Amino acid sequence: MTTNTKIIKDISCSDSFDPESLLVDNALEKILSIVKEIKDEVQIEIKESLGRILSKNVTAKINVPGHTNSAMDGYAIRSYDIPSAKFTTLKIAGTSWAGKPFNKKISSGECIRIMTGAALPEGSDTVVMQERVKIEKNSIIIDAKNQAKQNVRYAGEDIKKGNIVLKERKKISPAEMGLLASIGVKKIHVKRKIKVSFFSTGDELADVDKPLQKGQIYNSNRYTLYGMLKKINAEITDFGNIPDNKNKIKDTLIEASKASDVVITSGGVSVGDADYVKDIVNEIGEVNFWKVAMKPGRPLAFGKINNACFFGLPGNPVSVMVTFYMFVQPALFKMMGQEAANTLRLQARCLDHLRKRPGRVEFQRGVMSLNDKNLYEVSKTGPQGSGILTSMSEANCFIVLSLDVESTKPGDMVTVIPFTSLI
Ligand code: AMP
Ligand code: MG
Repeated sequence: MTTNTKIIKDISCSDSFDPESLLVDNALEKILSIVKEIKDEVQIEIKESLGRILSKNVTAKINVPGHTNSAMDGYAIRSYDIPSAKFTTLKIAGTSWAGKPFNKKISSGECIRIMTGAALPEGSDTVVMQERVKIEKNSIIIDAKNQAKQNVRYAGEDIKKGNIVLKERKKISPAEMGLLASIGVKKIHVKRKIKVSFFSTGDELADVDKPLQKGQIYNSNRYTLYGMLKKINAEITDFGNIPDNKNKIKDTLIEASKASDVVITSGGVSVGDADYVKDIVNEIGEVNFWKVAMKPGRPLAFGKINNACFFGLPGNPVSVMVTFYMFVQPALFKMMGQEAANTLRLQARCLDHLRKRPGRVEFQRGVMSLNDKNLYEVSKTGPQGSGILTSMSEANCFIVLSLDVESTKPGDMVTVIPFTSLI
């Protein structure tokens, strides 16, 4: 791997300007140009398929609906019998139930009592809803307002036999599970799950079930990372907390890379004296280390160890989440073979004053809602430090302030990414 040298130029002088920083879009572009789609597939039952990615097109072997049927409870008639003025009387010659069709042909002057979903009897082409008929003995009286072919659902109007119903790379949601069942498919071919190993580095990290010693913190990244990976259906191996010890980090990286498609670490990728991760990856694999012009989440290491892709995320809890959503997740989606979806970006009126330095993209945390004029408004959550994990929990969106933007004033329009569109 070569280092991407596209760097920021022409940014006016400020504290945050770093001429070696890579643009967010360039970093993502670079990552996506390197990661490869997994080819392996497995066959699974549709009941187990939620969130999985189709590895083959699915073709319908039947029409849906399978037979022309009634959209209403009412009476099947021949359109020929609709009167041109006033009324006409039609004799009820039988009943067609959903699942129990009327098997004879209807003749002129006759109708058939019909239920929603029941097959239209031969000879009929129109259904009069029951609320629009008058019943008299064994007959119905209909008026001239009825239209030929009304209230009929045609065979194949949803899905035509032989057509591709779902394309390769489609992610299975509840709608697709139902759709597959509607064409009688019990098993489908999907991409195998992506195997992701991860661990957190840091001498200060403690497990949640242990009392904290002086200077220690609980390892929250272990759980946010687990949650984000679980949500996208990854097959996860959690290597736990690894101290800032070169040999331990090296051994764990090697072991993790053998077991997985992707290895993710948190912490130890910055410029501190105990930040060993990128040097070790350089030694046992290949690494691109980037300072990305963003906040939170400036240091990001990306590379390869054996056949696994490697992401070295920063240690700060908010930085982990932002870099995961902006870089790791799109890469995992590509590897998983999932069709590319554009992240939803909306414009919202910001109610707060936002402090921001030019020269970097900032992902501030916000709470957005629709105001009484049906326009989006957004407020920032409290403090925006990269260690303030409550900001991610309180927020429902990122407020994305682009590179050249300086502080904004209340009432300014800003770009937001709703969290619901990230997962
Ligand atoms: P580092 O990138 O290793 O220098 O860590 C940056 C900051 O994030 C430090 O304040 C660390 O204590 C904190 N940090 C690192 N790893 C974790 C973790 N797994 N959970 C919570 N905080 C962490
Ligand atoms: Mg550290």
